[in-house]
Amino acid sequence: MGDTAATPVPETDPGPALRRLPRRAVAGVLAVEAIAVLLVIAAGFTAPAPEHAGYALLLVALSVVHTELATGIERVRRRIGATSYFDLSSVWTFAAAMLLPPLPAALVIVVVYAHLWKRVWRPARVPLYRHVYTTATVVLAALAAQAVVHAFGGLPASADDPVGVLGLALAVLVYELVNTSLVALAIALSARGEQTVALRRLLGQWDDNVLELATLCMGALAAVALAHTPWLAVLALPPILVLHRAVLVRHYETAASTDGKTGLYNAASWQGQARRAMRRSERSGTAVGVLILDLDHFKNVNDRYGHLAGDQVLASVAAVLRSCVRDDDVVGRFGGEEFVVLLPGLDPGAQGRAELLGVAERLRSRVEELDLAVDTPDGPMTLDSITVSVGAALSGGPTSVEHLLKAADGALYAAKRGGRNQVRAAGALLVGPDIADARHHGAPTIPAPRTPDEAPPAGARRRAG
Ligand code: GH3
Ligand code: MG
Ligand code: MG
Repeated sequence: MGDTAATPVPETDPGPALRRLPRRAVAGVLAVEAIAVLLVIAAGFTAPAPEHAGYALLLVALSVVHTELATGIERVRRRIGATSYFDLSSVWTFAAAMLLPPLPAALVIVVVYAHLWKRVWRPARVPLYRHVYTTATVVLAALAAQAVVHAFGGLPASADDPVGVLGLALAVLVYELVNTSLVALAIALSARGEQTVALRRLLGQWDDNVLELATLCMGALAAVALAHTPWLAVLALPPILVLHRAVLVRHYETAASTDGKTGLYNAASWQGQARRAMRRSERSGTAVGVLILDLDHFKNVNDRYGHLAGDQVLASVAAVLRSCVRDDDVVGRFGGEEFVVLLPGLDPGAQGRAELLGVAERLRSRVEELDLAVDTPDGPMTLDSITVSVGAALSGGPTSVEHLLKAADGALYAAKRGGRNQVRAAGALLVGPDIADARHHGAPTIPAPRTPDEAPPAGARRRAG
């Protein structure tokens, strides 16, 4: 499935997309494609055995049927707004690699990928150059897997052929390895300037790689079935379709835990993550910091520039928060115009407190520096006066997320009362009195987001608008 691991959101215009790539990426892409073609030619033309034409036709037919049936699933996936794309065609391309000489195997791959291009990737507006690169990576993965199986004496031929079974299992791993490495190479080469790409992004998500392995295992079984009783390979079709549906489950999970406007965790899933981070922190003897950030006079933004502009501000602030913290810090939208950040792994003393306040101050100042282009009923405008107030709290030992949130919320009120656009911290390190409650009485609840028409608690900050 070459395009597997989180293909970025598709670009709309194939031509300029290639021109926008750094020169080294273009060179890398062309080199990989040239190597694929040269290796197929170098493998030479071996006269195909009589059964090869049948294998090739059957595999192409199965792939076409698979893709046609799977496009219904694809439509559902697009409806729920997922941005990475899957095809599980490696079940057929791997089987082709196992059963056919290099040239016919490469031809099957090209035909399978041409059909996928027509039915899945072009409608999804994936640039053609990317699809051609994917096809080349699949050809190279297939050649490598084929070489492994040959080195182990071919496909397992009898019940008593452990070496053949081992060779087939290794071929699965090598196919995956070559494919993942070449996708990672393209991603790394496409990174701009000094930008480094996280290994996690290079290697794709764990789930994606497991899914690819499962698909290849089906391909291995299909190849052995084909070699003995060709029509048995048809039995691979139902499980692969079910596997395809399983991809949806993850998209649903992501959709259910994400806030649609900002792409951050929603309140419930943020709290789940926070609780887990808290437990990890307790085990490792480190402290956890919580920041609550509330945009200042945000109601005025809506009133003056409209709710759409307000939404654009929320999305931009969310992007700033996400980009200014570490990967394992957890950023969520608490509700309305309030955000929460959890910072695990801090020092449980003064040093951790200083670090937490440093991050809070950085976030505050980055928001203050923002020049935000928004669309308003009066046309495009730039907003340069968005500010945020921040409340911070640090755990000094075992405590509950709820307790930390309460303390950070209190500090936020102080920041609002103090004039907004500032950071305040809860006075003491928190070791929690309500820890037992939180643990034994189910999930603690997040305080509901404050709404404009809600009466402020006694002594609370004055509200704008
Ligand atoms: P303060 O400085 O005291 O926080 O003032 P504020 O105006 O930010 O606070 P208030 O609670 O009075 O108003 C919050 C506003 O946030 C009101 C509401 O319309 C707006 N809001 C909440 N959720 C959304 C949203 O999803 N999109 C938009 N555009 N506005 C939202
Ligand atoms: Mg506000
Ligand atoms: Mg608010």
